[in-house]
Amino acid sequence: MNGTFRVGNLFGIPFYVNVSWFLVLGLVTWQYGGALANLFPALGPVVPWMLGLFTALLLFASVLAHELGHSWVAIKQGIGVKSISLFLFGGLANLERESKTPAEAFWVAIAGPLVSLLLSGLLAAIGIGAGLSGPPAAIVGLLASINLVLALFNLIPGLPLDGGNILKAIVWKITGNPYKGVIFASRVGQIIGWIAIATGLFGGQIWNLVIGWFLLQNAGQSAQYATVQNQLAGLTAADAVTAQSPIVPENLSLREFANNYVIGNAQNWRRFLVTDDAGQLVGAIDLDDLKTIPTGTWPQVLVKELVKPIEFSTTVKPELSLLEVVTLLEQLKVQELPVIRENGVLVGLVEKAEIARLLQKRAEADPA
Ligand SMILES: [Zn+2]
Repeated sequence: MNGTFRVGNLFGIPFYVNVSWFLVLGLVTWQYGGALANLFPALGPVVPWMLGLFTALLLFASVLAHELGHSWVAIKQGIGVKSISLFLFGGLANLERESKTPAEAFWVAIAGPLVSLLLSGLLAAIGIGAGLSGPPAAIVGLLASINLVLALFNLIPGLPLDGGNILKAIVWKITGNPYKGVIFASRVGQIIGWIAIATGLFGGQIWNLVIGWFLLQNAGQSAQYATVQNQLAGLTAADAVTAQSPIVPENLSLREFANNYVIGNAQNWRRFLVTDDAGQLVGAIDLDDLKTIPTGTWPQVLVKELVKPIEFSTTVKPELSLLEVVTLLEQLKVQELPVIRENGVLVGLVEKAEIARLLQKRAEADPA
């Protein structure tokens, strides 16, 4: 995120704050310092502002504790935490990956609100049990209610909030499909977003408008993303192999190659994969290399004489799920990968563009 910088490490997790955080720090200090100055005139002119700043910092410590709650459970599940960031309204624990089971996802999601609830209860107990009065009682009371609000707000059952993730885990458990969980929780997030916007518009609540907009933005995105993931998970590499993959047998003459493969090939392939008699990949031939051979000798020269070795970072099996293929394409930053059977026979290429076309076609055939 823009304007975010690293402050240090927290239990080995890189810790970032966004510049908007200083705005909130200033606002809370100003507001709460002012309130304390009014409530307790005996404090004089400086102390209320220092207490305001102190309270603002504890507020952020509360948000941080919430994020550490998520992080701790994630780490227990063997999931790395890439970073924790604080920004305008809250925090974010950036996890390396998702949980593998719905139960694990449930615990990661609920851990943050549980920490906030626990802190709220603890602070309330201290406030009452220790018989505090004056500014300390006011500060402890405020922090107790802030932590309660943190817990309750985050439990709203729509993605991207924790409550949405809890709902996702429950639907995942029931349906056995994590993407259905995301889609359902996103839809609920969108509904809550619209309700917040409606109440914001008619009730004049600007915060409801902001929260509603935030929910709609994020829930819409995650629903779309999960819909695609769900489709991809239901397909395999074999389903997406480019129908006329550029594959040519090595024992063909250049003349036959030109006539039957190059002339009139609609995709304008510039490079063809070359296979031996057993169908195994032996290398590639570039159309540019044809130019180095006089046209007259093409009937006598075989494709195999122009073959160059080819390096693919990896190959995929036909039965690999398309979701994993796409993940590989993204990770390796390549446009295509060869699909090769267990016995080494080359099936064809899976291309990013072709996968996109396939999804498009399915979306048109079955508008959900
Ligand atoms: Zn949370």
